[in-house]
Amino acid sequence: ATGPGGAVAWAQEADILVVGSGAAALSAAVAAVNEGASVILVEKGPVHGGTSTKSEGGMWVPNNRFLRANGKSDDREDALRYMARCARPHMYRRDAPFFGMPEPEYRLMEAFYDNASGTFEFLEKVGALRTTQILQLPDYYEGPENKVPLGRQIMTQKPDGDYGLGVELVRQLKSWLDDRKVPCLLKHRARTILRNGQGEVVGLEVATSGDRMVRLRARKAVIFGTGGFAHNKAMMRNFQPAPIYGTCSVPTSEGDFLIMAQAVDAKLGNLNNAWRMQVVMEHTLDQPSVPKGIWQPPGDSMVIVNKYGARVVNEKHNYHDRSKVHFAWDANREEYPNQFLFMIYDRRVADLFAGNFPLPAAGAAASYVIQGDSPAALTAAIQARLDRHAGTWGDVRLDRGFAAGLVDTLSAFDRYAATGVDAQFSRGAFQWDRDWQSYTSIPREGTAWKTGEAPSATMHPFQSEGPYHAIILGSGVLDTNGGPVINPKAQILDTSDVPIPGLYGAGNCISSPAGQSYWGGGCTLGLAMTYGHLAGMNAASERVKSDADVQLPIAG
Ligand SMILES: Cc1cc2nc3c(=O)[nH]c(=O)nc-3n(C[C@H](O)[C@H](O)[C@H](O)COP(=O)(O)OP(=O)(O)OC[C@H]3O[C@@H](n4cnc5c(N)ncnc54)[C@H](O)[C@@H]3O)c2cc1C
Repeated sequence: ATGPGGAVAWAQEADILVVGSGAAALSAAVAAVNEGASVILVEKGPVHGGTSTKSEGGMWVPNNRFLRANGKSDDREDALRYMARCARPHMYRRDAPFFGMPEPEYRLMEAFYDNASGTFEFLEKVGALRTTQILQLPDYYEGPENKVPLGRQIMTQKPDGDYGLGVELVRQLKSWLDDRKVPCLLKHRARTILRNGQGEVVGLEVATSGDRMVRLRARKAVIFGTGGFAHNKAMMRNFQPAPIYGTCSVPTSEGDFLIMAQAVDAKLGNLNNAWRMQVVMEHTLDQPSVPKGIWQPPGDSMVIVNKYGARVVNEKHNYHDRSKVHFAWDANREEYPNQFLFMIYDRRVADLFAGNFPLPAAGAAASYVIQGDSPAALTAAIQARLDRHAGTWGDVRLDRGFAAGLVDTLSAFDRYAATGVDAQFSRGAFQWDRDWQSYTSIPREGTAWKTGEAPSATMHPFQSEGPYHAIILGSGVLDTNGGPVINPKAQILDTSDVPIPGLYGAGNCISSPAGQSYWGGGCTLGLAMTYGHLAGMNAASERVKSDADVQLPIAG
């Protein structure tokens, strides 16, 4: 349908409409405004900042200025090899062109490496973001391809010199835009991408708080930074590889861009991937957005077992890769044996590490903690809890051998703890396991229990006396990272791989260059802000487009 006489009554207009107000969108807006473009931010939620505000604020930036200042080389080819090895491990070939990856995917990683450090130096130079590196944590894969396992993560620097989290990251970027009077329309949900007679993107149809539709014109381009689809149940069921139970993304991450982009023939990718983590299952019962995921389960006399009472993973492994263990499929039994996992710990851990999430603080109770005086009693209590939630989770039954399996598991684990060598899953053998342990397992002040008695800080034999505790864990995501495919300029491609004129994207709403991986802490924000920057720069250099013959939605 075409508007009367081809003319559209625009409610507002700017050179560039930036949709969303998280890290990707804010980075795009800063770049575009600095280039002299006028920008309007269009935000669906009642507040700005998106999931970026909830984040820890780490940003993964290869070859960053701190590495260089410390004389550490983060060689381009080595870094790209590492990224390729992690993003597409099944295609990786050390000596093949593009390391065996499809060329377009490789080019996206290349553009990330080439522009990441420059993006953050730009933000620093224009006064939009200050960064520091006083907190360093190792990358998530320690294989031989990673030549710089420590030092790629940077943080926002607060005015007092300390490092800040996502709140501070968003505050600094947004303040810069506020100082330049860039409007941010809250409770404005982009619904339809509008194109002119030549198929160029020239604006948006947007639902305002009262579901009133307004049309906003973009003279040059529209940039999407609208987050993932973790709160869209149908998309999660259809695109993700196995059941996902929780997300700590903001509730507005509903995949709106996916729907709009399909209407303009965008190519889609990476829908089966996400930034993964484990969630406390009982947190997911009454809230769509869980407060937290489990970065690393705290404690040393602690294991995670499946419905057979067997360990299935290095419990201290990074959250993204550890969570994928939930997806295992048992073809003979036609079941997901790890659909739910059970974090089991003893009375020592309950007290010594009290307050480290998800362990309740000393003296406090958490309704999701299950207790039993013996492995058999704990087994019965877990089953009773599963039965209580059967209406929501389906019939989940522990195997009849669970209690015996758990006893065997604990006695094997006690032997590993005594020697410091986990013969099953190498827990504690990785730098990541040990470094994160010091952040996620902080001994409670005043506890009578001791640490440092066992050879590995990550393992300790279980107490022979109860009570024992269990927490039910499920698979979750920070947010998804699949959507329309971009090119190295952050332009959205159509199904013939041709850029859709005037349409850009960055962050969790697009098909992530990271593929199935999480290269290191801050990977999601590093990518979002770098590609946001590229989108802002390239959008600002577009020519002004005609708004004649705009194709309006039928209802319009
Ligand atoms: C607890 C936690 C800690 C984390 N820590 C880190 C970390 O340290 N480092 C890291 O790299 N990542 C971290 N992450 C992940 C990171 O927060 C996200 O991947 C990142 O913030 C995504 O940024 P974004 O700009 O793509 O999306 P978001 O920040 O989610 O912003 C998207 C915005 O778009 C808006 N929107 C959606 N649809 C529409 C629409 N139709 N119209 C208008 N607006 C719309 C949303 O309301 C939202 O405000 C963490 C996540 C969580 C939950």
